[in-house]
Amino acid sequence: MSEGWSSASAWDELLDLARRWVLRYQGQVRRLPVLAPVEPGWLASQLPPAPPMDPEPPEAWFADLERLVLPAVTHWNHPGFLGYFGITGSAPGVVGELIAAALNVNGMLWKTCPALTELEQVVTSWYAQAMGLPGSWFGMIADTASTSTLLALGAARERAVPGVRDLGLAGGPQLAVYCSQEAHSSVDKAAMVLGLGRQAVRRIPTDQHFRMRVDGLEAAVQEDRRRGVLPMAVVATVGTTSSTSVDPVPAIAELCQREGIWLHVDAAYAGSAAVAEEFRWALAGCERADSFVANPHKWLFTPLDCSCLYTAHPQAFRAAYALVPAYLSTETPGALDLMDYTFQLGRRFRALKLWFVFRAFGIRGLAEQIRRHVGLAQQFARWVGQSCDFELLAPVPFSVVNFRWHPPRLQEESALEKANRQLLQAVNRRGEVFCSHTVLRGRFALHLAVGNQRTDEEVLRTAWEEFQTCAAALKL
Ligand code: PLP
Repeated sequence: MSEGWSSASAWDELLDLARRWVLRYQGQVRRLPVLAPVEPGWLASQLPPAPPMDPEPPEAWFADLERLVLPAVTHWNHPGFLGYFGITGSAPGVVGELIAAALNVNGMLWKTCPALTELEQVVTSWYAQAMGLPGSWFGMIADTASTSTLLALGAARERAVPGVRDLGLAGGPQLAVYCSQEAHSSVDKAAMVLGLGRQAVRRIPTDQHFRMRVDGLEAAVQEDRRRGVLPMAVVATVGTTSSTSVDPVPAIAELCQREGIWLHVDAAYAGSAAVAEEFRWALAGCERADSFVANPHKWLFTPLDCSCLYTAHPQAFRAAYALVPAYLSTETPGALDLMDYTFQLGRRFRALKLWFVFRAFGIRGLAEQIRRHVGLAQQFARWVGQSCDFELLAPVPFSVVNFRWHPPRLQEESALEKANRQLLQAVNRRGEVFCSHTVLRGRFALHLAVGNQRTDEEVLRTAWEEFQTCAAALKL
């Protein structure tokens, strides 16, 4: 132990244990309850409050991993995990993550890891091309879409008010950001962090298919201009969190260009769908965006975290974020230092896992998986549509189905909500599948999302049977 785990034999022993553990876990995950069946505080109460003073053998940690940690894990890898947007890991992605951890590089500057900086440029360009977007866009990888949107809106803020990064907002114009009522809360959070305040976010009404109304956007922009408020950015969404609706980006881009407003597109989930050509329609107009985000960790078989942020104007990001203290200055002509384009300094080698995913699947393999997932969601939607007791609550353009139980005798919204909450709880408690919920136009919706590589028709059939069995048992 004196060599502090650095010997080849220590690595060998640990990797062997880990390899066996991961294989066993992958083999058994579909037999585990999807949702962790523990009460809040359970795991913490099982663990010693202070760290060990002396080394413990790996067998002891692995035993506790199995005995204590695993029961408190919600298994996003379970084929029956059908909530939120699935996390779509894959063996090549996981191995890429392992190698990134083993290399343990920090790509804050080009010279601190040239491979990281350059592979990040290459794979983000590959991903853009795979979605039918300009491969010439400047791309970089962040942890999450929330960070990507924050970064993009930070660049938009600097463009709207040059010098705001140095002077702050005090004394400057009041700024506004526009997004639909269905846009993700990360837009509000970005406004909070950027000092605009949540009230700067104008939530534009949507049409009957949950898409931003461009006439509403136009009216809000004009109203702000009349009041002396400066429109800073519009955030359009391709694949909204609840219903996966797609905002009319071509018309929004037209308006933004005419009005000189930064357009950021949030395609965190649905961007990856465009890897299959028949879903390219969803990204129409996005080539005109000033910035664009899509998350391979949501639907491109890449483990969390991996969010690709693009821009046609890298200089705007530099203007917002470049700041080089003496201890970070470099003299490498032609080198790209990614720290100049973001607020974070440290940078993980996320590009590696995405590179492995592209190499392992190829565009055809990725498109095939996406197609399969959409086909499964549409199959589920057909079962819902054919049932007398269930109904769809939104169109199903991708791999998400929003539906509810609606037995004819229940009419009041409050009674329907109560019944559906009970139903969801009953289904999730049984541990075969896990679905989440949302609210669409005031109606409580059951939310089923396909994203796991192992999810197949049998799993969806089980989910459908679970909903029917539990509904019958509720006897409402
Ligand atoms: N944007 C959309 C449309 C989302 O659906 C989500 C999360 O589901 C996010 C942004 C936030 O994603 P992240 O967890 O990567 O910050």
